[in-house]
Amino acid sequence: MKRILIISLLITLLALGFSILIALAMPLPSARMRGQAPSSPSPSDTASPSPSAAVPTGRFLDDTIAVTVAFPDEVRTLPLGEYLVGVVGGEMPASFEMEALKAQAVAARTYTLTRILASNKPEHPDADVCTDHTHCQAYLTAEELTERWGEDFNAYYQKIIDAVRYTDGVCLLYGGAPIEAVFHSSSAGKTASSAEVWGKPLPYLVSVESFETADDVPNYLSSVTVSHADFKSTILRAYPNAALGDNPEEWIGAKTLSPSGRIDTVIIGGIGIPGTELRTLFGLRSTAIEIELTETDVVFFTTGYGHGVGLSQYGANAMARAGSGYEDILMWYYQGASLGSVKEVFAGQDG
Ligand SMILES: [Zn+2]
Repeated sequence: MKRILIISLLITLLALGFSILIALAMPLPSARMRGQAPSSPSPSDTASPSPSAAVPTGRFLDDTIAVTVAFPDEVRTLPLGEYLVGVVGGEMPASFEMEALKAQAVAARTYTLTRILASNKPEHPDADVCTDHTHCQAYLTAEELTERWGEDFNAYYQKIIDAVRYTDGVCLLYGGAPIEAVFHSSSAGKTASSAEVWGKPLPYLVSVESFETADDVPNYLSSVTVSHADFKSTILRAYPNAALGDNPEEWIGAKTLSPSGRIDTVIIGGIGIPGTELRTLFGLRSTAIEIELTETDVVFFTTGYGHGVGLSQYGANAMARAGSGYEDILMWYYQGASLGSVKEVFAGQDG
């Protein structure tokens, strides 16, 4: 009897020890997130109809930072959190997966920090950022988002607020400083490095595989058709020395590809024209270009949309759908960068 008691006591102790081991092995929230429990407001907080919708504020790190924003007609100062809701809403489809939206929020926050910290802002000296997406980042007000989303406004607005609030204060760092967290819409199989697009190599902006496909992305494959005459005049405006004679078949020569498979340069009229320049001249969606000459036209076939550097938004969404969290997505597209807090960034500034 005594022996049975001892054995059952041993078994109980073993079981207890085992469950403690399991509990220890469970993933804990990272130190960064501990103590800032998902303080996201409940949907009822913003259930009041737009356009009076306001981004709730509270004890968020994002609300301790002010951003001066150049709107077309005025400069306004916004709390970082409120600004980011307008940026994420303007830059990424709200129907995307939550983890993709969080990744976009962190990239946008990081980009904004680099603008706040920049010592000189020649394009808009009175403001950190502007609302022109071709220069800084898109920003849409609640009113503009109402127009875009219609009856989905309440659900989508809440979703974007959640993406910003759940990542409150999180940014991407390299060597202790916020990175150039550039992003684009979609890539053709691989992202481009900053070196191949801007001639500026950055260790965390290298070419990586990107997982979006034509099934995921609207207009993933697109084409632009220009007549022989328009092609010739457009090239000559930019390159007056290009030799474009009467025979169009002699106009377009060899092309070289960048490491990510985009056009590096293509010989046109005897001149090496960068793919990036070709994209601008003909309004192409990317530099993943195939060129075809027909009897009457020059046809550009492109894949993907945007410069191709950094985070691919549709690629992020594909990763999120396959189960990746926003941290994995960011570590994939910004290789070698790390996640940190805005606190470190500004502490670094003061010290
Ligand atoms: Zn700007």
